[in-house]
Amino acid sequence: MAQMRTPIESGVPDNKRYLHPTLLKNYGNWRYHDRPRPGVLHHVSHSGDEVWSVRAGTQRQMDVHTIRKLCDIADTYAEGHVRFTIRSNIEFMVADTNKVAPLISALTESGFPVGGTGNSVSMIAHTQGWLHCDIPGTDASGAVKALMDELYTEFIREEMPNRVHLSTSCCEINCGGQADIAIVIQHTKPPKINHDLVANACERPAVVARCPVAAIRPALVNGKPSLEVDEKKCICCGACFPPCPPMQINDPEHSKFAIWVGGKNSNARGKPTFMKMVASGIPNNPPRWPEVSEIVKKILYTYKADARPWERLSDWVERIGWPNFFEKCELPFTKYLIDDWRGSRSSLNASTHIRF
Ligand code: SF4
Ligand code: SF4
Repeated sequence: MAQMRTPIESGVPDNKRYLHPTLLKNYGNWRYHDRPRPGVLHHVSHSGDEVWSVRAGTQRQMDVHTIRKLCDIADTYAEGHVRFTIRSNIEFMVADTNKVAPLISALTESGFPVGGTGNSVSMIAHTQGWLHCDIPGTDASGAVKALMDELYTEFIREEMPNRVHLSTSCCEINCGGQADIAIVIQHTKPPKINHDLVANACERPAVVARCPVAAIRPALVNGKPSLEVDEKKCICCGACFPPCPPMQINDPEHSKFAIWVGGKNSNARGKPTFMKMVASGIPNNPPRWPEVSEIVKKILYTYKADARPWERLSDWVERIGWPNFFEKCELPFTKYLIDDWRGSRSSLNASTHIRF
């Protein structure tokens, strides 16, 4: 007899077996939710059950001692269940209102700020940085730590016009995403090629195909197969570096930071929007990146003071217009900023065909 084929399980596991029992019991049956205070969500179900989720900020890349500490807090003060939000906040669920205050005290005393809900600055989503990835031009988590130290009060309070999502990306091409304010690495010089290593380390057709503006050509250098870059075409994106590490693009001086604003993923009140670059050439200056923090804070606090209630950053810019944005934020405007890529269809290599 024909047997049913076993499904191939791929993707994320079913999360139901990890859910807090009250969440599982009331799955899809919630009546409403509110926020009794910053950092606490209160959900009420049609069955009358209630659950409080207490949200705390974490540093995302955590050592085992910190994870144990968070688990101990979950076992002692919550009900043994946690979950992480997409912005690396941790949430503890309790089905008893009397457990909320002791849980908040335990988290605060252990150095985990409670907040990140509603119209706050949520934890900055960031990419892997020096710890995990092989191509970063900076340490995203370090820039985040330096900035969140200064934005701490905006995390624990809900005083922004609307929610504010920030992100940091340590290269120009891969992870990262749309955010109200994004800090993104910006290479400003074409890659330097180590011709001795290209033949051993790189699959040259793959590297040639990878370039979005077809600036890379195969070449023989000193009798060895290598690559060459047409520097007039190169947009310094760094896409050739991951498949071919000898195309060294990271540089302590020429890998800078850029700030982009106005991105959002949600459909609430308006369509999702793409962010646009508003500041560039900012020094990549570890360990505290003060120049980056200064510009982000200036944009953030100008938005806070000037936006109407419930305007996301992109709504605010749309209402006041780009000239006003640059004037109010005291940022210089150049022709390289807020590019909307109208010319990308003819200038970007959007297929696997190679054009020279
Ligand atoms: S943003 Fe780029 S460099 Fe950073 S972790 Fe992602 S792929 Fe790696
Ligand atoms: S992939 Fe990017 S950095 Fe590399 S040559 Fe092409 S444009 Fe320049």
